[in-house]
Amino acid sequence: MRNKKIGIIICMMLLITSLSVSASIEEELIQSNYLIDETEEIILIIDQCIVPDNGDGTADLPADCPYESSEDPFYIINGLPPDTTIELDPIFNDFYNIVRTPGGPLGGEILEFDATLGLVVTGTGDLTGFNRILSVPVSFEINTAPRTPGDPVQSFISEIFQLEGELFGDPDFCMFRINAGEVYGLPSPGQFILSKMLSGNFNIDSFFDITYQIEFEGCPGSPLDDYMGTTVNTTRLQQGIEFLNDPPSEPTIDGPINGENGKAYPYTFTSIDSNGDDVSYFIRWGDGEETDWTTFQASGPPGYIESHSWDTQGTYIIQAKAKDIYYVESEWAEYEITIPRTRTSSYLWVHWFLERFPMLERLLDIIF
Ligand code: CA
Repeated sequence: MRNKKIGIIICMMLLITSLSVSASIEEELIQSNYLIDETEEIILIIDQCIVPDNGDGTADLPADCPYESSEDPFYIINGLPPDTTIELDPIFNDFYNIVRTPGGPLGGEILEFDATLGLVVTGTGDLTGFNRILSVPVSFEINTAPRTPGDPVQSFISEIFQLEGELFGDPDFCMFRINAGEVYGLPSPGQFILSKMLSGNFNIDSFFDITYQIEFEGCPGSPLDDYMGTTVNTTRLQQGIEFLNDPPSEPTIDGPINGENGKAYPYTFTSIDSNGDDVSYFIRWGDGEETDWTTFQASGPPGYIESHSWDTQGTYIIQAKAKDIYYVESEWAEYEITIPRTRTSSYLWVHWFLERFPMLERLLDIIF
């Protein structure tokens, strides 16, 4: 009886553990960008990279998040037998000795820092079964273009100017050297997108299309003995994922559908942002006049109210669109207003008629 109870307790514990594990994986997948291979297996998860505001309306770079390959791993091909490669899956991490200098060739900043390059090494072909994990100390020099601190989205180009790393005292690689960047004629352009989140933190989405060069020489007694060569190749290094943001809805427009010319009528513009972001409106009145972007308002009702008058009769299409604080815009909405002949214009018409038929005017004078 006691054993049965213990068995039930163990079963319940296992169930609870498996439920919480699957819940945490699910949570992680929601916040991550994952690559799936042909067999539908998740092969790489790149997490969101969120860092605090540095107090100046932007984020300090490099952000403290890894750069990983979102495409191919690094390869060693040259110097190996046909159909044999060494795949090196990279992760750049642990940025330290960071020096930020304003200016540089792209006009933003020069970022100099050291890092650790972790490599998961897998041999193929003749080297199947050769597996290692390497840790290579590397140093970076990155140039960035200017950004505008305080902007909700700061997008600017960048480049690896110099990347160098070398491994010493390894039992398999008697020489292992990696280089990339403009200074070696290995151009590695990239981009940063810093998006301000409602929390006040920044989402970092950064990549480099790196052209790298790996020189190696195998050690005596290692599976790599007698192999040496230099391989140049390209891949994409990615840090963080795109900030997921939905545009605000196409605004609804509410107000009179007809009116008199020269008289102002109020119209209400309402857009809903599913992320709860504040929204700004841009309005074209259909007569050639338009507003600038309005100040940001809370999403949804009561909306934004602005009045307008049309000088001449006709049918006008009012158009409006909304944007959120990340400058993502909605579709245009349209609303028709007809300005018919007004009292003023019919009075003018009577006046014109009477001028041409003075007899009629005299007759009217006698009657009234
Ligand atoms: Ca939004």
